[in-house]
Amino acid sequence: MVKPVIAIVGRPNVGKSTIFNRIVGERISIVEDIPGVTRDRIYSSGEWLNHDFNIIDTGGIDIGDEPFLEQIRQQAEVAIDEADVIIFLTNGREGVTAADEEVAKILYKTKKPIILGVNKIDNPEMRDMIYDFYALGFGEPIPISGSHGLGLGDLLDAAANHFPKGGEEEYGEDVIKFSLIGRPNVGKSSMVNAILGEDRVIVSNIAGTTRDAIDSPYTYEGQEYVIIDTAGIRKKGKVYESTEKYSVLRALRAIERSDVVLVVINAEEGIIEQDKKIAGYAHEAGRAVVIVVNKWDAIEKDEKTMKEFEQKIRDHFLFLNYAPIVFLSAKTKKRIHTLLPMINLASENHAMRVETSVLNDIIMDAVAMNPTPTDKGRRLKIYYATQVAVKPPTFVIFVNEPELLHFSYERFLENRIRDAFGFEGTPIKIFARERK
Ligand code: GDP
Ligand code: GDP
Repeated sequence: MVKPVIAIVGRPNVGKSTIFNRIVGERISIVEDIPGVTRDRIYSSGEWLNHDFNIIDTGGIDIGDEPFLEQIRQQAEVAIDEADVIIFLTNGREGVTAADEEVAKILYKTKKPIILGVNKIDNPEMRDMIYDFYALGFGEPIPISGSHGLGLGDLLDAAANHFPKGGEEEYGEDVIKFSLIGRPNVGKSSMVNAILGEDRVIVSNIAGTTRDAIDSPYTYEGQEYVIIDTAGIRKKGKVYESTEKYSVLRALRAIERSDVVLVVINAEEGIIEQDKKIAGYAHEAGRAVVIVVNKWDAIEKDEKTMKEFEQKIRDHFLFLNYAPIVFLSAKTKKRIHTLLPMINLASENHAMRVETSVLNDIIMDAVAMNPTPTDKGRRLKIYYATQVAVKPPTFVIFVNEPELLHFSYERFLENRIRDAFGFEGTPIKIFARERK
């Protein structure tokens, strides 16, 4: 299911990031803290009543050295391009400003639903301050207070009313959806072309439901695939690539829709921070990951080069220790044939379900080998474990006190589970629950 996207726009200091953090805050704090994962807090998921959605803080999009007005204009453009619903945020204490009017001018151009939020209305006496904002022409202003958490429910209700109606499931369960993520010029388009070589049947290029995305469905040896396009692949040279954070945003949307994410690295250039951010997102989103080192033809190498490069990748991507690495050349097509089997493997493991009895044998053996931790005289007791979900494989361990399952012991259990079942290419999630 494609989640609807909300974008928050508005001039600086109206409280966009405060609202964003309020809406996603809880979710971010439960995300496990993994060394090496760099978090970009401009795009996250949220939940309201029974709606799941993604939300963008356009204020966090770094447009570079452009003049102030140009920056907020570009941020508003991003919102128009990317969102299903736009929250236009203003500051009730300052009234309507010239910069608000600039934002409004951009937003008039879109038919997308716009919810007008008036922030910093910290108490009921201040409500009268919202009336000025009718002048912006976006209907009824909704008073909120980001710092006090007031009115957010009304704001999200209004946004959720405009979410596209469901039923957007695009492809069958057995279709493997994958995307290629990486900086411009690492060779993503060349790789897509190499994959879609003459021996593959290309069904058609159909416009994806996600606006500009163009998906390429095809079948190979009886398996159906869809290559989820990131605008970075086909929309060359546009603003999408000119602002780094914007292209990250496009990549994140593609990751959301994928089962398997190919993190593409250019062998000539090595790894940069941006690669890590995106890979970290794929990990957190629970997608299977294959690391692809492209342009392997272009570097000088001896017998040690591959091992050394692999080690460099492992050092940079500690959290992706489960991801297989493929070295290839999209240009010469050398080893390009190793890619699909890797995608198949990662996808299979991503969807793997293990037997409860076998799982429990493994957990009990692990506990026998390495006794559970204690804290202040209390010892963690593990009663039993069960797999509750796939894509990614998710396990619940029933215990006496969940706080006693420390990160390091959880890691130990994860490693034992991996030793037993493989799970190469996929993250796995483990949650401790108290047994009632
Ligand atoms: P952004 O630039 O639009 O992302 O704005 P921020 O979220 O960084 O907020 C700017 C300032 O306004 C910060 O000092 C916030 O603490 C403050 N602020 C945010 N929401 C509220 C609110 O509801 N009431 C008041 N009084 N201050 C707020
Ligand atoms: P994208 O921006 O990631 O889609 O990258 P492109 O596929 O457009 O490739 C960027 C440049 O790298 C082009 O000039 C390609 O010909 C070149 N390139 C792509 N793959 C390879 C490769 O495997 N080896 C070499 N030497 N060049 C490559």
